[in-house]
Amino acid sequence: MNALADLLREMIASDGPMPLDRYMGLCLGHPVQGYYVTRDPLGAAGDFITSPEISQMFGELLGLWCAEQWHAIGSPHRLRLVELGPGRGTLMSDLLRAARVVPEFFNSLDVHLVEMSPVLMKLQQERLASSGIQATWHREIATLPEGPAIFIANEFFDALPVRHYVQTPVGWRERLVGTDPQGRFVFTLANEPERAMTRPAAQGTVLELALTSQQVMGEIASRLTRQGGAALIIDYGYGKTAFGETLQAIKAHQFVSPLEDPGEADLTVHVDFAALKTSAQAAGALVFGPLTQGDFLNRLGIHQRAASLSRNATEQQAQNIQIACDRLTATGEREMGTLFKVIAVTQPGLAAPAGFEEDQP
Ligand code: SAH
Repeated sequence: MNALADLLREMIASDGPMPLDRYMGLCLGHPVQGYYVTRDPLGAAGDFITSPEISQMFGELLGLWCAEQWHAIGSPHRLRLVELGPGRGTLMSDLLRAARVVPEFFNSLDVHLVEMSPVLMKLQQERLASSGIQATWHREIATLPEGPAIFIANEFFDALPVRHYVQTPVGWRERLVGTDPQGRFVFTLANEPERAMTRPAAQGTVLELALTSQQVMGEIASRLTRQGGAALIIDYGYGKTAFGETLQAIKAHQFVSPLEDPGEADLTVHVDFAALKTSAQAAGALVFGPLTQGDFLNRLGIHQRAASLSRNATEQQAQNIQIACDRLTATGEREMGTLFKVIAVTQPGLAAPAGFEEDQP
């Protein structure tokens, strides 16, 4: 058993069962024992792999997308380029390499990274320093400087904590994390129902609420509305709010129970893009999408990029480029091109950003 599990048991013994968002927040972000605080979880040897780690083309295409958006908002002299949850810094490094082909854009950039993990922050610092990039790190978005900004977030919102509620004969009751007599973690229900929640649903229905995600989205959108700019959000998720739960735990590329070995597995949810859209629109911003990642990357020209990279590559490299391109865009039911969705959020008054032209806000 682990130290975080002992701490959680003590907390539950003294305060009673805890809300799921508190449990998830501690498992991922406890300042000493949290999953992201103690390791680099990415890559083939880690627990999961992300699009920028699959191919440099992902970050490069996003870099050109940012350059176009910079132009669309009037080519501001100074632009905050903000990445939320930058992992190993791979996306940002690839993005900035592509951005150099538009020197006025590149020279306007003031790079900010929002990261809670000291381990990943160090990797990001090394990665960006080796590309000669100056950047500023933040623990949360509240400390970002004012001014026009472009935000990028790939697999960030899926790590923000959620709450669960279960429909019972007395109404919706919150699902909490408690312990059984053997000290194992188990789900229990709050004694009192949530009287303000009146949504009808069959007994046993679970409702997952991503309030932190909605609040973060609202803050970003309100900033974009006041100060100008755009955000590009990419994540495993769904377009229409629905009942049901999506919390999952992954360790070494395998599903495990979210209650087993806290802090040792990655906990994520599928992102509710409809809820993000509602929060962004309520703050006055425009929302485009969601599109599937496959459609988005195809429209940005990933196949042309793959062909041009392959021209200077060995046969083996060209084959790998093609495999990566297919993996990012594949449209099978359980493949990344379909499961991952993309939305763009912009200041009011802008036309649809690159990739979203066929979509109305
Ligand atoms: N975007 C990267 C990494 C995705 S993993 C990629 O695509 O490869 C999730 C990232 O978000 C990690 O960098 C993790 O440390 C960070 N993160 C998760 N929750 C966070 C939070 N609440 N605040 C800041 N960063 C967070």
